[in-house]
Amino acid sequence: MDKIYLKKGREDSLLRFHPWVFSGAVAQIVGNPAEGDLVGVFSSSGEFLAEGHFQIGSIAVRILSFSADASKPSFFEDRIRSAYKLREAAGLAGSASTTCYRLVHGEGDFLPGLIIDWYDGVAVLQAHSVGMFRAKKKITEALKVVYGDALKAVYDKSSGTAPFKAGLELIDGYLYKAEGFSSDEAVVLEGGNKFIVNWCEGQKTGFFLDQRENRAAVGRLAAGRNVLNLFCYTGGFSIYALAAGALHVDSVDSSSRAMDLVDRNVELNGFAPDRHTSICADAIDFLKASPEGKYDLLIVDPPAFAKHRGALSNALRAYRRLNAAAIAKAAPGSFIFTFSCSQVVDKEAFALAVFSAAAETGRKVRILDRLCQPSDHAVNIYHPEGEYLKGLLLYVE
Ligand code: SAH
Repeated sequence: MDKIYLKKGREDSLLRFHPWVFSGAVAQIVGNPAEGDLVGVFSSSGEFLAEGHFQIGSIAVRILSFSADASKPSFFEDRIRSAYKLREAAGLAGSASTTCYRLVHGEGDFLPGLIIDWYDGVAVLQAHSVGMFRAKKKITEALKVVYGDALKAVYDKSSGTAPFKAGLELIDGYLYKAEGFSSDEAVVLEGGNKFIVNWCEGQKTGFFLDQRENRAAVGRLAAGRNVLNLFCYTGGFSIYALAAGALHVDSVDSSSRAMDLVDRNVELNGFAPDRHTSICADAIDFLKASPEGKYDLLIVDPPAFAKHRGALSNALRAYRRLNAAAIAKAAPGSFIFTFSCSQVVDKEAFALAVFSAAAETGRKVRILDRLCQPSDHAVNIYHPEGEYLKGLLLYVE
């Protein structure tokens, strides 16, 4: 294993178990590691600190282990088993009413660069680093051991997430299929509701598993309400609202493929078609054109407006405008569930954007709850950057 020596005084973050080594902290590379190789990381005085995947770029090493066990044959099996145990303890794995969950959440499961989502027997893998991309076969073998016969397929969906490098074949496809497995989509259960997930054609790994608890929160307040679900994707929030007894739900997304799935999900769950309307449109245009006071429960869950720090101020402006439009249109006595999934927008900055939005409308607005990502998107306490989903439940008079 090649070795990386840090500059004097730059070992502090690793001693606090932060899982990244920035290239600026590296004093010397002994050997000639290829990107994705396992390397050992040492302090300037030669003390062993950690092991991880070598990268070219601003992060030089993503740490897999603070003891010397990353090359152990059972490494991925051990980590994946521990991730599974957490989901089991949290009431997800083995649940009869929820058959989909995030199994591996990168740094949150001590596997930086790796996402694995579980859809009732199908594990969808997304590598965000060359090291994890190159480890796909080992990860597949580990999944087979941990799940046994329950594993029907492993699908690699890394083409949009792994860094492009010459020599890496970034083509999505199955890494494993059990005998007789053939479909590219499945019906999964979340909180007792049915959803069609297509991991090949869908966004991300096929479904936004991170909104499970917030969808349940919408369900708790939706009875008797007129609901507008903006940026609905396949209708997660809409289905929970309908199941909870919402009078009517309008679902809006700019993706026609997503809207087709919303219609199929409404039908699959047996709701009367006149309780739901699918609208394929730009959410902001739709909101601006909609009459004031039509809706008394609104969900605003846009895609990440800022993907990097440079986009922060534009993103905050966009959150403010969007939320001001939603608050302005809400009927007196409305609930608004508003979210940001931009990692670089922290919860204080988001709350400030929503505060400015409220002030712009002049309406009386109260914060009833602060919302976040669920337990299967756990945040490694030494890696606060893993906290990305934040939301507010507002009450508008
Ligand atoms: N709330 C969803 C997830 C939203 S992801 C759920 O619970 O599953 C963000 C969605 O916004 C995507 O489906 C994307 O197609 C949609 N989108 C992006 N830009 C949009 C726009 N300008 N208007 C409407 N929808 C948009």
